[in-house]
Amino acid sequence: MTISQDLFKRAQDSIPGGVNSPVRAFNGVGGTPLFITKAEGVHTFDADGKQYIDYVGSWGPMILGHNHPEIKQAVLEAVENGLSYGAPTETEILMAEKVKALVPSIEKVRMVSSGTEATMSAIRLARGYTGRDKILKFEGCYHGHADSLLVKAGSGALTMGVPNSPGIPADFAKHTLTVSFNNLDEVKAIFEQYKDQIACVIIEPVAGNMNCIPPVEGFLEGLREVCTDNQSVLIFDEVMTGFRVALGGAQQYYNITPDLTCLGKVIGGGMPVGAFGGKKEIMDYIAPVGPVYQAGTLSGNPIAMAAGLKALELLSKEGLHAELEAKSKALCEGFQAAADETGIALTTNYAGGMFGFFFTDAKKVTSYQQATECDLERFKKFFHLMLDEGVYLAPSAFEAGFVSTMHSDEEIANTINAAKRAFAKL
Ligand code: PLP
Repeated sequence: MTISQDLFKRAQDSIPGGVNSPVRAFNGVGGTPLFITKAEGVHTFDADGKQYIDYVGSWGPMILGHNHPEIKQAVLEAVENGLSYGAPTETEILMAEKVKALVPSIEKVRMVSSGTEATMSAIRLARGYTGRDKILKFEGCYHGHADSLLVKAGSGALTMGVPNSPGIPADFAKHTLTVSFNNLDEVKAIFEQYKDQIACVIIEPVAGNMNCIPPVEGFLEGLREVCTDNQSVLIFDEVMTGFRVALGGAQQYYNITPDLTCLGKVIGGGMPVGAFGGKKEIMDYIAPVGPVYQAGTLSGNPIAMAAGLKALELLSKEGLHAELEAKSKALCEGFQAAADETGIALTTNYAGGMFGFFFTDAKKVTSYQQATECDLERFKKFFHLMLDEGVYLAPSAFEAGFVSTMHSDEEIANTINAAKRAFAKL
């Protein structure tokens, strides 16, 4: 028995499923999750002492690589002054100013402690602001686990086959309308059907919780138009894409201005941080200036702010995101060429620092339906073959992969060579 196997057995006695977030349990791929003891740069190390090239990056935050020395230093310096005050600090202002500078659609921003809190609060705000109850989301998009949003969701909910979790009253779920990602006709039809009732549309502008599916041309532009025409709030959930697809997020990459934006992952530099922000007029609708309640004991925590602010400063380097996208492109093209050579049907997608690959005959995957029709058995085998090769990919066919600034050309080439050997064994 490996040490990870032993730890997993022990964990299951006191933690449901042995994990504190479902996708970590490897249910999507089978086998035993690796227990991680440390991470440095591009690598994670498991309890058995094996080293992996990591493409999970703590599910997105570690865009600058693990344990970045300057972020670590910022945290250590902040710790000297105490861990939490529950009172305002100047670092929060610096953070808000930085976010506003990087994401111009954000005029005011509120910090929270997770992506779920960000989307949940943005939805409440949109409902309060418009006085409407219904919200529109897209099948396969995951926005955290708040009740209204765990309807036809992606990510772990997709892998586990519980798109509608028990525990969510039908009376809540009935206000969540769902249509197909990348299908503007369905959006227009549902707005016809529920005229003047839809408070907001929430979308992952690049879907990253049903593998990686970028928007088709004109889709986000169309959404913007429909929302404006219907006085619905357009919410971009950039918890995954923010500061990753481009410095200004997917909204900058695709040049669309949402009304509200949700952030998470990268914004905390590895600490628990989320945020939501947008138009001043809407943001001033939350307490204490407005009537919509929203709060948090640890919101804007000084240690988390220090880490996040340093991460955003480091990410602001000219050309960094172009380099990141070049890495995603090289990886995808390398996988494609290796698959073609070995006769494996594969297609890939990428946007900025996120990527996905699909075992399918389809030339391009642009829909949730196509993503779910891919060869999941083949993915599972491939995942474990890559793990044997020392490459740690997301343990689910429905999660995007992430590159960091630390992934060198050599590591990407090694990953492609490992994939070629793995494809040959499928
Ligand atoms: N929104 C998106 C797009 C996400 O990918 C996630 C998490 O993966 C969330 C929201 C929820 O964030 P958190 O897990 O920090 O609550």
